[in-house]
This record gives sequence, structure tokens and C-alpha cells, in this order.
Amino acid sequence: MQLQEALGYFMIGCLHDAFDNDNSSKKNSVRKMLIQVFNAGSSSIKFALYQHQSKLELLKGNLEKIGEASSILSYQTSSSPSHKIELSDGCQNHKEGIQKILEIFDQEKNNPGSADLIVHRVVHGGTKYRHAALLDLEVKQFIRDMIPLARTHHPASLACIEEISEHFPEIPQAVVFDTSFHQTLPEYAWRYALPRKISDQYAIRRYGFHGISHQSVLKQAASFLKTPVNKLNLITIHLGNGASISAIKKGICVDTTMGMTPLEGLVMGTRPGDLDPGILTLLAREGWNQEALETMLNQDSGMKGLCGTNDFREILQNKEEGNEEAEMALELYCYRVRKTIGSFNTVIGPVDALVFTGGVGENVSWVRKRSVRGMEWMNIQLDPDMNDHAEAPCAIHSKDSQTKILVLPSDEEWEMASQAAELIL
Ligand code: ADP
Repeated sequence: MQLQEALGYFMIGCLHDAFDNDNSSKKNSVRKMLIQVFNAGSSSIKFALYQHQSKLELLKGNLEKIGEASSILSYQTSSSPSHKIELSDGCQNHKEGIQKILEIFDQEKNNPGSADLIVHRVVHGGTKYRHAALLDLEVKQFIRDMIPLARTHHPASLACIEEISEHFPEIPQAVVFDTSFHQTLPEYAWRYALPRKISDQYAIRRYGFHGISHQSVLKQAASFLKTPVNKLNLITIHLGNGASISAIKKGICVDTTMGMTPLEGLVMGTRPGDLDPGILTLLAREGWNQEALETMLNQDSGMKGLCGTNDFREILQNKEEGNEEAEMALELYCYRVRKTIGSFNTVIGPVDALVFTGGVGENVSWVRKRSVRGMEWMNIQLDPDMNDHAEAPCAIHSKDSQTKILVLPSDEEWEMASQAAELIL
């Protein structure tokens, strides 16, 4: 993608009111456009229904613990408070999950059958998809072909797509990829120093993930700072169960911490982040097979491996009670965030803002404080009081800090809706 094309793309996405210059019939259809979003994770489906032009969220929710003995379905509508339903007979798989969600839509008289477009998140777009795409046979085949690189997520996304296609065959569907935003990385940032032949044979390179979230906060930062996207240098810090940091120069992503898979980079809830690859060859020599290694790396490491839980509320509580493992895990977690902010600061030069987002980034002031500790010499300074009382969206830097520090909510569903809307406008 050419730089200008990329800039145009981000600018368009940023301006929800860009339709104002359109002809009136187009304006009308945009105003009425209903967009239904499904964001499937390995054991969850987040969902939302928007009236696009007015950015009205008609319904938003989350179905969690798919595949467990009992699943939790929570949602709210534009006119009613939050509902939380425990599905005591569980929800076996994503196909069943979609069926349960559609029942809720029906109940709330917000039938997705009236949507103009249905959008799905797909984790891996490889190097092929730099933008959202309308779903067709080729896209579907691509998602299938990429299963080896996204073994838990792509089957879940395909199950959602199939189920929706059965219910609403006449409604166009679109997919938004979590890797697209990172396709602008220069080769020296995406290439691993492995023999070229091996990288080529196995499509080994940095793809990066969480792109939809990084893009969502980039656009929000532009509007918060009243600066065009293509003039912003940002370090966006997504700390959720998964965690990643992106370096964004003039609105373009130039580096990111997740790699070939979401295992690389920061310490996460249950993943270790950066490791010496020699550790894995050692374990392989000791008889660990591929499945045991994958389970250990994806489910048993990170904060859970360090201190027994990946729930930050519990970890903070344990630290308060003097638990040394919890304290060390938090120090290690923040040290890795801090180290990355330092290196990305070098990569992109004067940084306009650090942006914290994700469940931990938005809610845990202790983590934010520790992650930017000692950066005054780089003109990055937090206001402790603002940090302690932060409620996203807000700023938490001191008045002397040249680099601003923001806490912004990651809104992946709205970001997906706005990217997909561009396809049919
Ligand atoms: P995901 O990556 O699964 O989307 P989220 O961004 O929702 O995850 O973040 C989930 C994490 O955020 C959980 O591990 C939880 O510990 C943490 N978290 C969420 N809300 C809070 C809170 N109010 N206080 C402390 N931690 C929180």
C-alpha cells in the first residue's frame, strides 16, 4: 500500500461525518444504515448493533465462557440497563453462541435481519488483506487456509460466519482483520533474522495483532487531541488479557510487539511474551511435545504462571496482602511495558502521546504509574492524582509533560463497523 493511500484510508476512517458532502440519496441510506458486528474470540463472542450515521449503539453485549459448563451472556440496549444471564446448560460452541445471541436480538426487537451489513472480526489477514473486505468465496477460503496460523480463532470466526449466512443469506457480510493495521511495518521491523528460505517456506514474519484496537484508539486520540491522524506520533499500549504495544508515526503503524503469533512481546495474562527460543529447544530435548509446549505458552504462563492468577483485581489484592509472587509479577509486567515504551520512543522520535487501553490499561492505575516511572528525562510525566482518578476517555499527564498520556477505551466493535461501512458507501 502506498503511503498516500494509507493516509487517505486512516483519514476517511477518522471522519464519521465525512458523508456530509455526499449526494442526498446516499446520505439517506447512510443515515439509516444498520450495522451488526460479531467479534469472536476463542471462547467468547462480543456483539453490537449500530445505526451508523448517528453512531447510535442500539445493542451491545458479550457472550463469555463458550465451551464451559455454564456460559455468561451480558448485554445492554440503548433504552434499557444491563442484563446478565447465566446460561446454566452452557453453550457448546460458537454456532450455538450465535443462536443464543440472535434470540436476545429477537427478544429486544432488534432483529439483525434488518441490518444492511453484518461484520465479523477475523484475526489473521496474512499479508493479503490490508483493509476490511466484503465476504465472498475467496475470502472464506482464505480464512480457512489461514487456520494453521490462527488455530483457535479462525474456526470460531468461520462458525459465526456460517451460522449468520444460514440465517440471513441475503445480507452482505464483511470481515475486518486484526493484522491489517500492521501491514505498514517496514521490512526491518517485520522480518526475523532466520534463513530467508525457511521464512519464505513457512510464511514466517511479524504480522502483529490487536490492530483493530490500536486503530480504534488512534482515531480517538486524534479527536481527543484535535490533531489529524496523519500528524500524530503515538505509542498505543493495549493491556488486556492479551497485551501489545504499537509505535505509530504520522498515523502509520511502524512497529508492534506481537509477532508471527500473539505470543511475542509483553507479559500477558497467560502468555509469557518474549522468550529466548533456546528455552523451547531445551524443553523439546527434554521430551515436551508441541501440544504440551503450546498449552504451557498460551494458557499457563504470563501472570498466571508467575503468581497463580491472571485476574488483575486478584493480583493487586494479593500484593496488598504481602504476597511476594504477586508483587514480583507486577514489577516484571510493568518493567516490560516500560522497556518497550523506551525503545518505541527511540523509533518514532518525539511522541505526542502514550495511550493506555484494554481492561488493565483502562482500569489499573498502579500498572500505568509503574509503566511510565522514571521517564521525566524523556519529558513523559504522569499526574499521580489524575492517574488515580482516571476514567476513560481522559488525560493523565502532568502539565509539564511534553508527551501527553491518555487513557482511552478500546472500542473494537465500533471500529469494525466504521471500517466495514467504508466498503459499501
Ligand atoms: P481481552 O484481551 O480478553 O479483551 P480485556 O481487555 O477485557 O481482555 O481485559 C481483561 C483483563 O482486564 C482481565 O485480566 C482483568 O484482570 C483486567 N481488568 C478488567 N477490569 C478491571 C478492573 N476494574 N480492575 C482491575 N483489572 C481489571
